[in-house]
Amino acid sequence: VDSLLVEDESDDKNEAKQHKNHREKSLIPAEEEKAKQQQLLTLLEKLIIKEWPTARLYLYGSCANSFGVSKSDVDLCLVMEDMDINKAEVLLKLADILQSDNLQNVQALTRARVPIVKLMDPATGISCDICINNVLAVVNTRLLRDYARIDMRLRHLAFIVKHWAKSRGVNETYQGTLSSYAYVLMCIHFLQQRRPAILPCLQGMEATYSVTVDNIECAYFDQVEKLRDFGSHNKETVSQLVWGFFNYWAYRHDYTDSVISVRTGSIISKREKDWTRRIGNDRHLICIEDPFETSHDLGRVVDKHSIRVLREEFERAAEIMQFDPNPCVTLFEPY
Ligand code: ATP
Ligand code: MG
Repeated sequence: VDSLLVEDESDDKNEAKQHKNHREKSLIPAEEEKAKQQQLLTLLEKLIIKEWPTARLYLYGSCANSFGVSKSDVDLCLVMEDMDINKAEVLLKLADILQSDNLQNVQALTRARVPIVKLMDPATGISCDICINNVLAVVNTRLLRDYARIDMRLRHLAFIVKHWAKSRGVNETYQGTLSSYAYVLMCIHFLQQRRPAILPCLQGMEATYSVTVDNIECAYFDQVEKLRDFGSHNKETVSQLVWGFFNYWAYRHDYTDSVISVRTGSIISKREKDWTRRIGNDRHLICIEDPFETSHDLGRVVDKHSIRVLREEFERAAEIMQFDPNPCVTLFEPY
Protein backbone atom coordinates (compact mmCIF):
# COMPACT_ATOMS: atom_id res chain seq x y z
CA VAL A 1 0.00 0.00 0.00
CA ASP A 2 2.74 2.46 0.94
CA SER A 3 4.50 1.94 -2.40
CA LEU A 4 1.71 3.84 -4.17
CA LEU A 5 2.77 6.98 -2.40
CA VAL A 6 6.44 7.35 -3.29
CA GLU A 7 7.20 11.00 -3.94
CA ASP A 8 9.89 11.83 -6.48
CA GLU A 9 12.11 14.41 -4.84
CA SER A 10 15.62 13.07 -5.36
CA ASP A 11 18.15 14.62 -7.76
CA ASP A 12 20.61 11.81 -7.38
CA LYS A 13 21.29 10.51 -10.87
CA ASN A 14 22.11 7.00 -9.65
CA GLU A 15 18.67 6.75 -8.25
CA ALA A 16 16.95 8.41 -11.17
CA LYS A 17 15.98 5.23 -12.97
CA GLN A 18 14.64 3.57 -9.89
CA HIS A 19 12.68 6.71 -9.13
CA LYS A 20 11.27 6.85 -12.62
CA ASN A 21 9.93 3.35 -12.14
CA HIS A 22 8.42 4.36 -8.86
CA ARG A 23 6.90 7.48 -10.35
CA GLU A 24 5.14 5.56 -13.09
CA LYS A 25 3.30 3.69 -10.39
CA SER A 26 2.99 6.58 -7.96
CA LEU A 27 -0.32 8.36 -7.54
CA ILE A 28 1.30 11.62 -6.48
CA PRO A 29 1.61 14.15 -9.33
CA ALA A 30 5.10 15.29 -10.28
CA GLU A 31 6.13 18.95 -10.10
CA GLU A 32 6.20 19.26 -13.89
CA GLU A 33 2.53 18.35 -14.04
CA LYS A 34 1.72 21.20 -11.66
CA ALA A 35 3.79 23.57 -13.82
CA LYS A 36 1.72 22.55 -16.85
CA GLN A 37 -1.50 23.23 -14.95
CA GLN A 38 -0.16 26.68 -14.07
CA GLN A 39 0.71 27.31 -17.72
CA LEU A 40 -2.84 26.47 -18.79
CA LEU A 41 -4.32 28.62 -16.02
CA THR A 42 -2.25 31.62 -17.18
CA LEU A 43 -3.40 31.18 -20.78
CA LEU A 44 -7.07 30.92 -19.78
CA GLU A 45 -6.83 33.95 -17.47
CA LYS A 46 -5.44 36.02 -20.33
CA LEU A 47 -8.30 35.03 -22.65
CA ILE A 48 -10.97 35.60 -20.03
CA ILE A 49 -9.77 38.99 -18.82
CA LYS A 50 -9.85 40.30 -22.40
CA GLU A 51 -13.61 39.66 -22.49
CA TRP A 52 -14.53 40.17 -18.81
CA PRO A 53 -11.92 42.49 -17.21
CA THR A 54 -13.21 42.09 -13.63
CA ALA A 55 -13.60 38.32 -13.71
CA ARG A 56 -11.27 36.04 -11.72
CA LEU A 57 -10.38 32.42 -12.32
CA TYR A 58 -9.89 30.04 -9.37
CA LEU A 59 -8.59 26.51 -9.20
CA TYR A 60 -10.70 24.19 -7.08
CA GLY A 61 -11.20 20.45 -6.66
CA SER A 62 -8.41 17.94 -6.58
CA CYS A 63 -5.66 19.95 -8.26
CA ALA A 64 -6.01 22.62 -5.55
CA ASN A 65 -6.96 20.63 -2.45
CA SER A 66 -3.81 18.45 -2.63
CA PHE A 67 -5.85 15.26 -3.06
CA GLY A 68 -5.27 15.15 -6.81
CA VAL A 69 -3.71 12.06 -8.28
CA SER A 70 -1.49 12.05 -11.31
CA LYS A 71 -3.35 13.00 -14.51
CA SER A 72 -6.49 14.36 -12.83
CA ASP A 73 -8.60 16.83 -14.71
CA VAL A 74 -8.34 20.46 -13.69
CA ASP A 75 -11.42 22.08 -12.12
CA LEU A 76 -11.69 25.85 -12.59
CA CYS A 77 -14.25 28.33 -11.37
CA LEU A 78 -14.87 31.63 -13.14
CA VAL A 79 -16.05 34.23 -10.66
CA MET A 80 -17.98 37.19 -12.04
CA GLU A 81 -18.76 40.18 -9.82
CA ASP A 82 -22.34 40.33 -11.01
CA MET A 83 -24.11 37.33 -9.48
CA ASP A 84 -27.20 37.81 -11.66
CA ILE A 85 -25.54 36.90 -14.95
CA ASN A 86 -27.09 34.33 -17.24
CA LYS A 87 -24.70 31.42 -16.76
CA ALA A 88 -25.68 29.68 -19.99
CA GLU A 89 -24.96 32.81 -22.02
CA VAL A 90 -21.58 33.33 -20.39
CA LEU A 91 -20.65 29.68 -20.91
CA LEU A 92 -21.58 29.77 -24.60
CA LYS A 93 -19.58 32.97 -25.10
CA LEU A 94 -16.65 31.44 -23.21
CA ALA A 95 -16.82 28.31 -25.36
CA ASP A 96 -16.62 30.54 -28.46
CA ILE A 97 -13.56 32.35 -27.18
CA LEU A 98 -11.78 29.13 -26.25
CA GLN A 99 -12.54 27.52 -29.58
CA SER A 100 -11.14 30.51 -31.48
CA ASP A 101 -7.92 30.13 -29.53
CA ASN A 102 -7.45 26.55 -30.72
CA LEU A 103 -8.33 24.81 -27.50
CA GLN A 104 -9.79 21.40 -28.30
CA ASN A 105 -12.92 19.38 -27.50
CA VAL A 106 -14.60 22.57 -26.33
CA GLN A 107 -18.13 21.83 -25.15
CA ALA A 108 -20.60 23.96 -23.19
CA LEU A 109 -22.81 21.81 -20.95
CA THR A 110 -25.36 24.44 -20.03
CA ARG A 111 -28.03 22.08 -18.71
CA ALA A 112 -25.91 20.07 -16.28
CA ARG A 113 -26.60 20.31 -12.50
CA VAL A 114 -23.40 22.34 -12.35
CA PRO A 115 -23.19 23.97 -15.82
CA ILE A 116 -19.65 23.92 -17.25
CA VAL A 117 -17.47 24.33 -20.29
CA LYS A 118 -15.14 21.40 -21.00
CA LEU A 119 -11.92 21.74 -22.94
CA MET A 120 -8.61 20.08 -23.70
CA ASP A 121 -5.39 22.02 -24.10
CA PRO A 122 -3.28 20.47 -26.88
CA ALA A 123 -0.10 22.19 -25.61
CA THR A 124 -0.16 20.49 -22.20
CA GLY A 125 -2.58 17.60 -22.83
CA ILE A 126 -4.63 18.68 -19.82
CA SER A 127 -8.42 18.44 -19.78
CA CYS A 128 -10.37 20.91 -17.74
CA ASP A 129 -13.88 21.92 -16.65
CA ILE A 130 -14.81 25.56 -16.02
CA CYS A 131 -17.88 26.42 -13.93
CA ILE A 132 -19.22 29.84 -12.94
CA ASN A 133 -19.64 31.49 -9.53
CA ASN A 134 -19.39 28.24 -7.61
CA VAL A 135 -17.58 30.01 -4.78
CA LEU A 136 -18.54 27.48 -2.09
CA ALA A 137 -16.55 24.86 -3.96
CA VAL A 138 -13.53 27.17 -3.94
CA VAL A 139 -13.89 27.63 -0.16
CA ASN A 140 -14.43 23.95 0.66
CA THR A 141 -11.40 23.14 -1.48
CA ARG A 142 -9.40 25.51 0.75
CA LEU A 143 -10.70 23.76 3.90
CA LEU A 144 -9.69 20.33 2.58
CA ARG A 145 -6.26 21.61 1.61
CA ASP A 146 -5.74 23.09 5.09
CA TYR A 147 -6.67 19.79 6.75
CA ALA A 148 -4.15 18.04 4.51
CA ARG A 149 -1.40 20.38 5.72
CA ILE A 150 -1.86 19.29 9.34
CA ASP A 151 -0.94 15.63 9.03
CA MET A 152 0.56 13.83 6.03
CA ARG A 153 -1.45 10.72 6.84
CA LEU A 154 -4.69 12.34 5.67
CA ARG A 155 -3.37 12.85 2.16
CA HIS A 156 -2.00 9.32 2.04
CA LEU A 157 -5.18 7.73 3.37
CA ALA A 158 -7.33 9.76 0.94
CA PHE A 159 -5.15 8.82 -2.04
CA ILE A 160 -5.63 5.15 -1.26
CA VAL A 161 -9.36 5.46 -0.59
CA LYS A 162 -9.91 7.44 -3.82
CA HIS A 163 -7.83 4.95 -5.81
CA TRP A 164 -9.79 2.08 -4.27
CA ALA A 165 -13.13 3.79 -5.01
CA LYS A 166 -12.19 4.43 -8.64
CA SER A 167 -10.86 0.87 -9.13
CA ARG A 168 -13.96 -0.69 -7.58
CA GLY A 169 -16.47 1.48 -9.43
CA VAL A 170 -17.89 3.19 -6.33
CA ASN A 171 -16.88 6.77 -7.26
CA GLU A 172 -19.81 7.45 -9.64
CA THR A 173 -22.43 9.83 -8.28
CA TYR A 174 -24.69 9.27 -11.28
CA GLN A 175 -24.80 5.55 -10.35
CA GLY A 176 -25.62 6.29 -6.73
CA THR A 177 -22.16 5.98 -5.23
CA LEU A 178 -20.04 8.74 -3.70
CA SER A 179 -18.00 11.66 -5.04
CA SER A 180 -14.30 12.06 -4.33
CA TYR A 181 -15.23 15.06 -2.22
CA ALA A 182 -17.43 12.83 -0.04
CA TYR A 183 -14.64 10.24 0.39
CA VAL A 184 -12.17 12.91 1.49
CA LEU A 185 -14.68 14.17 4.10
CA MET A 186 -15.07 10.56 5.30
CA CYS A 187 -11.29 10.35 5.73
CA ILE A 188 -11.14 13.66 7.63
CA HIS A 189 -13.97 12.56 9.92
CA PHE A 190 -12.24 9.23 10.53
CA LEU A 191 -8.98 10.93 11.56
CA GLN A 192 -10.86 13.42 13.79
CA GLN A 193 -12.50 10.64 15.81
CA ARG A 194 -9.39 8.43 16.08
CA ARG A 195 -8.04 8.23 19.65
CA PRO A 196 -5.65 9.93 20.12
CA ALA A 197 -7.07 12.22 17.41
CA ILE A 198 -4.97 12.73 14.29
CA LEU A 199 -6.89 15.80 13.07
CA PRO A 200 -8.56 18.62 15.02
CA CYS A 201 -11.91 20.20 14.15
CA LEU A 202 -10.93 23.46 12.44
CA GLN A 203 -14.49 24.84 12.42
CA GLY A 204 -14.73 24.25 16.18
CA MET A 205 -11.72 26.48 16.88
CA GLU A 206 -11.35 30.26 16.94
CA ALA A 207 -11.94 31.49 13.37
CA THR A 208 -8.94 33.12 11.71
CA TYR A 209 -10.50 32.95 8.25
CA SER A 210 -14.04 33.91 7.42
CA VAL A 211 -16.05 34.65 4.28
CA THR A 212 -19.75 34.76 3.57
CA VAL A 213 -20.76 32.95 0.41
CA ASP A 214 -24.37 32.61 -0.78
CA ASN A 215 -25.48 33.74 2.70
CA ILE A 216 -23.48 30.99 4.36
CA GLU A 217 -20.79 32.00 6.81
CA CYS A 218 -17.68 29.91 6.17
CA ALA A 219 -15.32 30.32 9.11
CA TYR A 220 -12.50 28.23 10.55
CA PHE A 221 -9.04 28.28 12.09
CA ASP A 222 -6.67 28.34 9.15
CA GLN A 223 -3.27 28.90 10.83
CA VAL A 224 -2.57 25.24 10.40
CA GLU A 225 1.21 25.63 10.50
CA LYS A 226 0.67 25.93 14.29
CA LEU A 227 -0.97 22.49 14.31
CA ARG A 228 1.78 20.44 12.72
CA ASP A 229 2.27 18.37 15.90
CA PHE A 230 -1.42 17.86 16.52
CA GLY A 231 -1.49 14.16 15.66
CA SER A 232 1.95 13.26 17.02
CA HIS A 233 0.58 11.30 19.99
CA ASN A 234 -1.02 8.89 17.57
CA LYS A 235 1.65 6.68 16.01
CA GLU A 236 -0.57 4.68 13.67
CA THR A 237 0.84 4.00 10.20
CA VAL A 238 -1.01 4.64 6.96
CA SER A 239 -1.64 0.89 6.52
CA GLN A 240 -3.18 0.65 9.99
CA LEU A 241 -5.38 3.63 9.18
CA VAL A 242 -6.51 2.13 5.88
CA TRP A 243 -7.49 -0.98 7.82
CA GLY A 244 -9.25 1.18 10.43
CA PHE A 245 -11.07 3.25 7.82
CA PHE A 246 -12.62 0.26 6.06
CA ASN A 247 -13.32 -1.46 9.34
CA TYR A 248 -15.17 1.65 10.52
CA TRP A 249 -17.37 1.87 7.42
CA ALA A 250 -17.90 -1.88 7.25
CA TYR A 251 -18.72 -2.69 10.87
CA ARG A 252 -18.69 0.28 13.21
CA HIS A 253 -20.64 3.08 11.60
CA ASP A 254 -24.28 3.28 12.64
CA TYR A 255 -26.10 3.70 9.33
CA THR A 256 -29.50 3.95 11.00
CA ASP A 257 -28.92 6.94 13.25
CA SER A 258 -25.63 8.65 12.49
CA VAL A 259 -24.51 11.59 10.37
CA ILE A 260 -20.78 12.21 10.07
CA SER A 261 -19.93 15.85 10.53
CA VAL A 262 -16.50 17.34 9.87
CA ARG A 263 -17.96 20.70 10.95
CA THR A 264 -18.45 19.52 14.55
CA GLY A 265 -15.65 16.93 14.51
CA SER A 266 -18.08 14.25 15.63
CA ILE A 267 -21.19 12.23 14.88
CA ILE A 268 -24.59 13.89 15.04
CA SER A 269 -27.96 12.20 14.90
CA LYS A 270 -30.20 11.99 11.85
CA ARG A 271 -33.04 13.20 14.06
CA GLU A 272 -31.23 16.43 14.82
CA LYS A 273 -30.94 17.12 11.08
CA ASP A 274 -34.37 15.82 10.21
CA TRP A 275 -32.75 13.33 7.87
CA THR A 276 -34.74 10.36 9.14
CA ARG A 277 -36.95 9.72 6.13
CA ARG A 278 -36.89 9.95 2.39
CA ILE A 279 -37.80 13.40 1.05
CA GLY A 280 -38.05 13.51 -2.74
CA ASN A 281 -34.97 11.76 -4.00
CA ASP A 282 -32.94 12.30 -0.82
CA ARG A 283 -32.95 9.00 1.04
CA HIS A 284 -30.23 9.66 3.63
CA LEU A 285 -29.03 6.05 3.73
CA ILE A 286 -25.46 7.14 4.44
CA CYS A 287 -25.20 10.66 5.82
CA ILE A 288 -22.25 12.96 5.23
CA GLU A 289 -22.88 16.58 6.20
CA ASP A 290 -21.28 19.22 3.98
CA PRO A 291 -19.01 21.33 6.24
CA PHE A 292 -20.47 24.67 5.07
CA GLU A 293 -23.72 23.93 3.27
CA THR A 294 -25.01 22.03 6.28
CA SER A 295 -28.42 21.23 4.82
CA HIS A 296 -26.60 19.29 2.12
CA ASP A 297 -26.13 15.53 2.62
CA LEU A 298 -23.39 14.29 0.30
CA GLY A 299 -24.83 10.81 0.70
CA ARG A 300 -28.14 11.81 -0.82
CA VAL A 301 -27.25 10.29 -4.18
CA VAL A 302 -27.09 6.85 -2.56
CA ASP A 303 -30.17 4.67 -3.07
CA LYS A 304 -31.43 1.28 -1.84
CA HIS A 305 -29.37 -0.62 -4.38
CA SER A 306 -26.14 1.40 -4.23
CA ILE A 307 -26.01 1.41 -0.41
CA ARG A 308 -25.74 -2.39 -0.61
CA VAL A 309 -23.00 -2.17 -3.19
CA LEU A 310 -21.12 0.36 -1.06
CA ARG A 311 -21.39 -1.61 2.18
CA GLU A 312 -20.34 -4.82 0.47
CA GLU A 313 -17.32 -3.01 -0.92
CA PHE A 314 -16.42 -1.63 2.53
CA GLU A 315 -16.69 -5.16 3.94
CA ARG A 316 -14.63 -6.64 1.12
CA ALA A 317 -11.91 -4.03 1.70
CA ALA A 318 -11.95 -4.58 5.47
CA GLU A 319 -11.56 -8.36 4.99
CA ILE A 320 -8.67 -7.84 2.61
CA MET A 321 -6.89 -5.47 4.98
CA GLN A 322 -7.40 -7.99 7.79
CA PHE A 323 -6.44 -11.24 6.11
CA ASP A 324 -4.81 -10.75 2.71
CA PRO A 325 -1.01 -11.05 2.73
CA ASN A 326 -0.77 -8.81 -0.34
CA PRO A 327 -3.60 -6.26 0.01
CA CYS A 328 -2.02 -3.83 -2.42
CA VAL A 329 -3.07 -5.99 -5.38
CA THR A 330 -6.41 -7.36 -4.20
CA LEU A 331 -7.76 -4.12 -2.74
CA PHE A 332 -7.57 -2.35 -6.10
CA GLU A 333 -8.60 -5.23 -8.35
CA PRO A 334 -10.93 -3.89 -11.07
CA TYR A 335 -14.51 -4.88 -10.31
P1 ATP B 1 -11.14 13.79 -8.51
O1 ATP B 1 -9.68 13.62 -8.33
O2 ATP B 1 -11.88 12.50 -8.49
O3 ATP B 1 -11.52 14.69 -9.67
P2 ATP B 1 -11.97 16.02 -6.82
O4 ATP B 1 -11.26 16.36 -5.53
O5 ATP B 1 -11.80 16.98 -7.95
O6 ATP B 1 -11.61 14.53 -7.19
P3 ATP B 1 -14.80 16.03 -7.08
O7 ATP B 1 -15.73 15.13 -6.34
O8 ATP B 1 -14.62 15.90 -8.56
O9 ATP B 1 -13.44 15.90 -6.35
O10 ATP B 1 -15.23 17.50 -6.73
C1 ATP B 1 -14.51 18.64 -7.11
C2 ATP B 1 -14.80 19.77 -6.15
O11 ATP B 1 -16.16 20.15 -6.33
C3 ATP B 1 -14.67 19.40 -4.68
O12 ATP B 1 -13.38 19.64 -4.17
C4 ATP B 1 -15.67 20.30 -4.04
O13 ATP B 1 -15.09 21.57 -3.85
C5 ATP B 1 -16.74 20.43 -5.08
N1 ATP B 1 -17.85 19.48 -4.88
C6 ATP B 1 -18.00 18.28 -5.47
N2 ATP B 1 -19.15 17.70 -5.13
C7 ATP B 1 -19.75 18.56 -4.30
C8 ATP B 1 -20.99 18.56 -3.64
N3 ATP B 1 -21.86 17.53 -3.74
N4 ATP B 1 -21.29 19.63 -2.87
C9 ATP B 1 -20.45 20.66 -2.75
N5 ATP B 1 -19.26 20.74 -3.38
C10 ATP B 1 -18.92 19.71 -4.15
MG1 MG C 1 -12.11 16.80 -10.08
